[in-house]
Amino acid sequence: MASVFTKIIEGEIPSYTVAEDDFCYAFLDINPNTKGHTLCVPKKEVDKLFDLDEMEYSRLMSFSRKVAIAIEAVVHCKRVGMAVVGLEVPHAHIHLIPIHSIGDMNFSQKEEMLPEEFAELAAAIQAKL
Ligand code: AMP
Repeated sequence: MASVFTKIIEGEIPSYTVAEDDFCYAFLDINPNTKGHTLCVPKKEVDKLFDLDEMEYSRLMSFSRKVAIAIEAVVHCKRVGMAVVGLEVPHAHIHLIPIHSIGDMNFSQKEEMLPEEFAELAAAIQAKL
């Protein structure tokens, strides 16, 4: 069965899209640690990040770097943190999280956002790419 992220990439499930290229897709995390929390995923459905081959891994990292720079240009933060977890969705992905303190990397701390805030933020990040 297709992962929730494959369904997002194929447009079967809506998302707040931030960026896309031939190999990767980025969208806002629906349950963000902080405003601007973004997920970068390979379109190819692979469970674990380190199961990507070297070329695929490099492409995802390079894509994530561009997205992180755009996030930092838009969202007020000290820096953009990066995490890999994958316990909830078995489709490799990078979490990019705008942070002010180490507590923002705590996945049990969540920020409420309205649908219009998600939409505005995704559009603003997209515009920086
Ligand atoms: P993990 O697999 O533990 O790295 O976490 C998966 C992440 O995907 C969580 O932060 C979820 O909030 C996020 N997530 C799950 N479903 C969706 C969705 N439909 N749209 C955006 N983000 C999602």
